[in-house]
Amino acid sequence: MSAISRFRARLISFELDASDGVQMVHIEDGVLSLSGSKIAGVQSTAEYLGQGGDIEACEDLRPALIMPGFIDTHLHAPQYRIMGAFGTRLLDWLEKYAFPAELAFADAQYAAAEAEHFVNTMLANGTTSSQLFTTTHAHTCDALFAAAAKRNLCLIAGKVMMDQNAPSGLLSAAEVCARETQTLIDRWHHRGRAAYALTPRFAITSSERQLDYCRGLRQANPTVLVQTHLSENPEELAEVSRLFPGAKDYLDVYESYNLLGPSSTFAHCIHLSDGERSRLFDSQSKVAFCPSSNLFLGSGLLDVAEIPWDNFSVASDVGGGTSLSMLTTCAEAYKVCQLKNRTLHPYELLYAATAGNAKALSLEQEVGQLKEGFWADFIVVDAEHDIALRKTNWGLEHLEGALFSLIMFGGRQNILRTYVAGELVHGGAS
Ligand SMILES: [Zn+2]
Repeated sequence: MSAISRFRARLISFELDASDGVQMVHIEDGVLSLSGSKIAGVQSTAEYLGQGGDIEACEDLRPALIMPGFIDTHLHAPQYRIMGAFGTRLLDWLEKYAFPAELAFADAQYAAAEAEHFVNTMLANGTTSSQLFTTTHAHTCDALFAAAAKRNLCLIAGKVMMDQNAPSGLLSAAEVCARETQTLIDRWHHRGRAAYALTPRFAITSSERQLDYCRGLRQANPTVLVQTHLSENPEELAEVSRLFPGAKDYLDVYESYNLLGPSSTFAHCIHLSDGERSRLFDSQSKVAFCPSSNLFLGSGLLDVAEIPWDNFSVASDVGGGTSLSMLTTCAEAYKVCQLKNRTLHPYELLYAATAGNAKALSLEQEVGQLKEGFWADFIVVDAEHDIALRKTNWGLEHLEGALFSLIMFGGRQNILRTYVAGELVHGGAS
């Protein structure tokens, strides 16, 4: 029989109601019970006591909040160390910073050490599930999956597929790349909490031959996911139309190779035509909104009002993005949306970063909410860490205001503890 742990705290999580929009599920004084790696109960303390529960058996974490761990739908593990690289936009940024950073991963020992460090940093920021890019090197993919498996962490990842328009050390010929990808799928897909995502970087770095292999891999492995970039920057768009003269638009490149669908995540999607948007949404594909990256690289402002919740997710896009923290990512999302005349409520932002992103990755029955039977992936949050957080937040009620302040002023310093599958993986007794 597995051990039961119980925590007393303010419990919050978020859900999308078809008629009322995003709602917060809030228990001001609650007990979260775990049984091994799963959540066994979420109830008020009064209810717990009414059922004969022993309050001495609960670790009292009040006034801290317990909420689901964050989920990041798009980022690049090997770019962690180049966050904040100065002075370029997308294509030059790739040449000058991203590709050299990824070339360093040719050294398998370096890749393994970086994977450990990266996973620990992600957990310190309260992110407990993610979908990420590795590098072209199969051993980087192995190292990240291994680091996640060691912690029973939910990870979706893939080897980056590139066979043109990048340094030779990062290219792999279409056939070789497909073979290595299949080996990685066989090794990692649906092993424990891992899942594999086919990862063509973007249209510019894959030949038609490679995209054709990608289609074949998807056909042979129908449950793998797909992650790539789409319509991030005007120079990129011009280059895609030069390289694929037969395509009617950027989306058509991916569409022709059967890469759209409910398990496909397209990062950015800023400069889409109306036609591309409706085809993308009709296919149930997911958009990863990457506000920090879009601002930092000057790529543009996504019009979030155009995107249905069913197709929406929010992501850090490290290292184009400048923070691994999903709180900071939500703050940047708020600001981008203000510029597009759409005000996102704190509940909407926190929904997106938890249950919404879980849905985008088809994990909504497993993570993203505090619910009985879900994985015990959660964070203990100090919502009063900084003096700024104790101020009244004008225009919002108390808890709404505190959560909005947490988003705007908070970050890694507010994550007191992170639990994955019921185990403490970051932080400890305060
Ligand atoms: Zn990206």
